[in-house]
Amino acid sequence: MLYATHAVVDLDAIAHNVQAARELSPGKQLLVAVKADAYGHGAVEVSRRLAADGLADWFGVATTPEALELRAAGITQPILKLSQCLAEDELDAVIASEITPTVVDSLTMAAAAAAADRAGRQHYPVHLAVDTGMRRIGCEPEEAVDIATEAAERGLDLQGIFTHLPVSDTPRGADFTQAQLKRFLAAVEAVQRTRVSAGMQPVPLVHAANSGALLGHLKDGCTMARPGIMAYGYYPDANESPRPVKLQPAITWQTKVSTVKRVAAGETVGYGRTWTARFDSWVATIPIGYADGFSRLNSNRGRVLIGGRSYPIAGRVCMDQSMVDLGPATPDHAAPVSVGDDVVILGTQGDQTISADELAELMATISYEVLCLIGKRVERLYRG
Ligand SMILES: *Cc1c(COP(=O)(O)O)cnc(C)c1O
Repeated sequence: MLYATHAVVDLDAIAHNVQAARELSPGKQLLVAVKADAYGHGAVEVSRRLAADGLADWFGVATTPEALELRAAGITQPILKLSQCLAEDELDAVIASEITPTVVDSLTMAAAAAAADRAGRQHYPVHLAVDTGMRRIGCEPEEAVDIATEAAERGLDLQGIFTHLPVSDTPRGADFTQAQLKRFLAAVEAVQRTRVSAGMQPVPLVHAANSGALLGHLKDGCTMARPGIMAYGYYPDANESPRPVKLQPAITWQTKVSTVKRVAAGETVGYGRTWTARFDSWVATIPIGYADGFSRLNSNRGRVLIGGRSYPIAGRVCMDQSMVDLGPATPDHAAPVSVGDDVVILGTQGDQTISADELAELMATISYEVLCLIGKRVERLYRG
């Protein structure tokens, strides 16, 4: 390994978590969100494994390059681009690679139809987003019938209709979520009725459930679910999400001790001199910094695991390195750790665990962001 800082991704854990998602949505298709490089875990490897095990019927991405990366890697499952396309050339690329676009209104429907025409494709599949309360993308529920009818008129195959649930991750959001689902299912029913009375098949894929909704056991009347974070082993809300299944965090983020030195009482460590040794101390340097996604908010607050023990970060996290307080250094005592020892940033060592939720709390964010921020230069190694 040319760089000691790396992440080990346990593909068996991801398979276990996706299997758990399937068990929470029996009889339904499953779209696994692999956007943002599978929440930092590596979209190609994650998708290959889930495809090989037959665990994912669909993959969900945020951007067209993400979808093209999966196609280039040989992924043949349907891929839904969860956000709408903005440019003609983007739509042309999407259709050329059999990626399913999301449409949100007449304009995006017309653009998709035009792109399908340019490609000489009939009945190209699209999914319609309906906005029932997220206020991000999608048509108003009252517009759904007209836009769905337009899809048929323009020769597109309206294969899916979906909505998104912003507070499905906490029981406090149950009323809002149930009201959303009611509005959504009413719009879907109106679309289906219109289609059937026009002699068409109903839209086959109706989907709303992210991880929060799946874990919350919502009876949502859908035919597909769309989990993301739970596939990677985290509950969407660290404290409030129901935990009907046991998830296994899949990523372990590690590095190695690069230096150990004795720092005299009164000396300071790092930029800004924000940490002062209260007594003669052992201090380790580790080759990981904020450029790797180890947030500078860990300065003087975070911790790492070495030799199964927890040690605090001393001073400011630098771009590429950080220092660790190993405790007092009496003249005749060796340092408790050595150069080359494994350091866990996120994961388990011995009986100690640092979770993405713990790092997220320190950064005033959520596990999703911690995982997505693990840097590009951190090599991912795969197990399982
Ligand atoms: C990211 C995303 C999901 C997955 O959400 P999780 O909270 O990670 O389960 C589902 N649907 C849409 C539209 C998304 O953008």
